[in-house]
Amino acid sequence: MQLVESRIEKAVQRAGRKRSEITLVAVSKKFSADRIREAYHAGLREFGENYVQEFAAKHPLLNDLPDARFHLIGHLQTNKARLAAELFHVIETADSPKLLQRLDAAAALRVSSIEVLLEMKLSAEESKSGATPEAIPQLLETAAQCPHLQLSGLMTMPPWSEDAEQSRPYFKQLAALAAQYNLPKLSMGMSNDFEVAIEEGATIIRIGTALFGPRPKPQPDSSAIQA
Ligand SMILES: *Cc1c(COP(=O)(O)O)cnc(C)c1O
Repeated sequence: MQLVESRIEKAVQRAGRKRSEITLVAVSKKFSADRIREAYHAGLREFGENYVQEFAAKHPLLNDLPDARFHLIGHLQTNKARLAAELFHVIETADSPKLLQRLDAAAALRVSSIEVLLEMKLSAEESKSGATPEAIPQLLETAAQCPHLQLSGLMTMPPWSEDAEQSRPYFKQLAALAAQYNLPKLSMGMSNDFEVAIEEGATIIRIGTALFGPRPKPQPDSSAIQA
C-alpha cells in the first residue's frame, strides 16, 4: 500500500494535481472478506468488486467495517440490478437505459440514492462491455428521470497492454467526453497504467494486483482431474 501511495504521489505531483482529488479503490475481487478487513484496518475505505454473486457471499462477513464503500466495477446484468443495488454504494458499470431504470427502481427501496457511473466502451474489443459515446445523450436523458440515482461520471477499461502509454488515448477520450457532458468523475487506471490515468485527469483509480498481489487462481476441480 505504501508503494502504491508513493506511485500515486509522484504522478499527482507530475500532473500538478492534489492527492485529495483521487479516490483509490482497492479491487478485492477473488480475495476473501478477511483480506478486505485487513486492508480496511490498513486505512483503505473504498473497495471494488466485479461479481455480484461473489460479493453477496462476502458482504455479510463485512458488516463490522462501518466506513467501507463498495463499488461494482464488473459488468452488471439487468436481472442482478436489484441485488447489486442492495450491496453496492457505487455502480461504475451502468451501460444501458434499461439497467438505469432497474437500478432506480431498486434504489427506491433504499435510504440513500445510488451513485452511478456510465461504463464506456472506447475500443473495438468484442469481450468488453460498456456503452458507446453515441449512446451517452440517451443515457443521460434516462438518468435524469431516475430520482434515486446520482449519475456522477464515466468509467472505462482500455485494452490490456504491458505499455501504459497505450492506455493514454483512451483516458484522454474519456476525459474529453466527461468534460463535454459536464460529468465530474472519471474512473480510469489500474495497476499497470494508473499513473498515466492520473496525468489524464482520473478521479477514481481501481487497483488490485499492485495492492493485494496476484489474484488467487480458482482451485482445480478434482472431479475434472479424475474424469
Ligand atoms: C480487475 C479489475 C481492476 C484491477 O486490476 P489490476 O490490474 O489488478 O489492478 C480494475 N478495474 C476493473 C474493471 C477490473 O476488472
